[in-house]
Amino acid sequence: MSLNLLEGEIQRRRTREITVGKLKLGGSNPIRVQSMTTPKTEDVPEVLKQIKDLVTAGCEIVRVTVNDQRAADALPDILRNVTIPVVADIHFDYKMALESLKHGVDCVRINPGNIGAEWKTIEVIKAAKDAGKALRIGVNAGSLEKPLLKKYGHPVSEALVESALNAIALVENQDFYNFKVSIKSSNVINNYRAYALLSEKTEAPLHLGVTEAGTKTYGSIKSAVGIGSLLLSGIGDTIRVSLSCDPVDEVKAGVYILKSLGLKTDMPEIIACPSCGRADIDVYRLAEEVERRALGLGKNIKIAVMGCVVNGPGESMEADIGIAGGKGEGLVYKKGKPIGKVPESQMLDFLMSEIERM
Ligand code: SF4
Repeated sequence: MSLNLLEGEIQRRRTREITVGKLKLGGSNPIRVQSMTTPKTEDVPEVLKQIKDLVTAGCEIVRVTVNDQRAADALPDILRNVTIPVVADIHFDYKMALESLKHGVDCVRINPGNIGAEWKTIEVIKAAKDAGKALRIGVNAGSLEKPLLKKYGHPVSEALVESALNAIALVENQDFYNFKVSIKSSNVINNYRAYALLSEKTEAPLHLGVTEAGTKTYGSIKSAVGIGSLLLSGIGDTIRVSLSCDPVDEVKAGVYILKSLGLKTDMPEIIACPSCGRADIDVYRLAEEVERRALGLGKNIKIAVMGCVVNGPGESMEADIGIAGGKGEGLVYKKGKPIGKVPESQMLDFLMSEIERM
């Protein structure tokens, strides 16, 4: 692994910039957070309700399954009512990709492992090109082409990369470049290897994820390791955390992964100690409340909530604003300097009024 890091800063690999709806991604654009809806696509009110919640949580691109004609026919109503790009997720039936493009979808995700004959993929590429839309080539270890499975025995990283490179060649041979690629495995190490190998061989933007990562807590942590390790290596232009729970939690996890690496600048970072027997203030409650109130303020600041003087003053002085707890009170620091002692009952309001003025 090459060290694409300066002190406190990731050196991103430069990929090709593409356009998905009104959004640019790849190149030097921010890393985008994606998710996927869970109601039946033809249930437009439920889909729109969920997309609204996803957008509120920070989702920037949303994917909907287009598994049959009823789903395709629902696309115009969905597209009319959402503000973020919509991707049609296609498996098996290339005609659904054509239908989705006809209905104005911003991007089509095709899976080389199950789309079938090459000419079908070419039809989809031509349609996306004619419509000025985007494609995502979505290779997945669970649905690799049979000849590659036979060749490699298992969906190893090299097999995923070969599948992706074959599809990339097919797309680029049609003189079409407005596409991104994903190459997901449910094994974090294989996933890392696959993306790292592929990133050496293409300039296409890469959509990261650990596929089928699992339940809310375990899947979030697995994704943080899997996606985070790639981001640290400078790889990745969009991300999706795949969880077996409400997709709003996927988006929150994705947003937090980016924030933890300094890759999201429209929200604060909350540093909070785990508390221990030394703490004389309720660190958990204070940290939770500060996070809840400060997250939506759009400020790229670091806030420290610390239980005592062991690490409290140090972390608070390094943060933009911080509090170090003492006996029933706390010392507040702003931009490295103490600005006052506050009783515990007033800590939250005092901190928030200072944060709001920053
Ligand atoms: S900062 Fe103080 S209260 Fe918080 S974990 Fe460290 S020693 Fe415990």
